[in-house]
Amino acid sequence: MNKAFVREPERLADYCPRCGSQGQPVSTETLQAYLPDALRKNVSDPANFCPSPKCEVAYFDAFERIVLAADLSQPAYPKDPDAPICACFGLTRQDIEQDVREGVVTRVKAIIAKANSPEARCASMAANSCSCVAYVQKYYMQCRAAKDDARGRD
Ligand SMILES: [Zn+2]
Ligand SMILES: [Zn+2]
Repeated sequence: MNKAFVREPERLADYCPRCGSQGQPVSTETLQAYLPDALRKNVSDPANFCPSPKCEVAYFDAFERIVLAADLSQPAYPKDPDAPICACFGLTRQDIEQDVREGVVTRVKAIIAKANSPEARCASMAANSCSCVAYVQKYYMQCRAAKDDARGRD
């Protein structure tokens, strides 16, 4: 199809005004969980989460107003690498590292099963309003690759 006929939907400020990463639209519950009362009026719905771990902007809105990760009411993964990857069940990077060290997938498997269960509340509790499964899998694969690398050098 001719590109000219494919119209992008009209959307404002989908990209982080600080680093240019594509934002992830977040729910009102997420904003309530992560923004202290005093900052809640600083961004308006629909707000986006900036997914870049290096960028200090956590949320931004269509008017390019921002809230910094340092000002959130709780640490947010991946802005803070020590924050729980899964905000609902509290799985951290250390848990995943331990799985990889032990050569098992016990913790990773358990969290993925839980994240897909009805009690998962990722959509409101994760800083980006998304299921944590993608982050968990990504970090697990990273650790596995690092371990295989180390072994290859021996
Ligand atoms: Zn950013
Ligand atoms: Zn979760």
